[in-house]
Amino acid sequence: MSLLNIIQLGHPTLRQLAQPVTNIASDPVQQLIDSLMATAQQAHGVGIAAPQVNHSDRLFIVASRPNLRYPQAPTMSPTAMINPELVAHGEHQVKGWEGCLSVPSIRGQVPRYTEIEVAYWDRWGDRQQQILSGFVARIFQHELDHLNGLVFLDRVESTAELVSEQVYSERQKDEG
Ligand code: ZN
Repeated sequence: MSLLNIIQLGHPTLRQLAQPVTNIASDPVQQLIDSLMATAQQAHGVGIAAPQVNHSDRLFIVASRPNLRYPQAPTMSPTAMINPELVAHGEHQVKGWEGCLSVPSIRGQVPRYTEIEVAYWDRWGDRQQQILSGFVARIFQHELDHLNGLVFLDRVESTAELVSEQVYSERQKDEG
């Protein structure tokens, strides 16, 4: 397990279609999962996708918990989602603030489905099917985009809905 370097916007790997993981039980995949979890925690991320550490694999971590970057986040144990799929979604999208460890210093209002049905393989090789809602559903959709070469900036409806991290934190304080 080691901390990994997070690549930033402009690095070509962030724009590639990531490839399916074929051997979940293998040491390299298991080590990548451990390192992604440690890297997300150290960077105060609530999720991280393998392409963000320059591995073009269909694998991400969802690790929602309150932290410096997302004080309101719900708590869950960090979960590796391998070859994930969005199976179905509700009709409603809502806009919410997102940031990205690969797009430093910027936050944007991003529309996402509030309720989704997802499927993935866990790190033990078992197929999981779940309903996700709210902030965790948002994280899933953000991370799935990374596997398809998209970043949250591609989903923002207007550049007027982008703000600096500093303005974002000032607004959060004002809202208490
Ligand atoms: Zn991201």
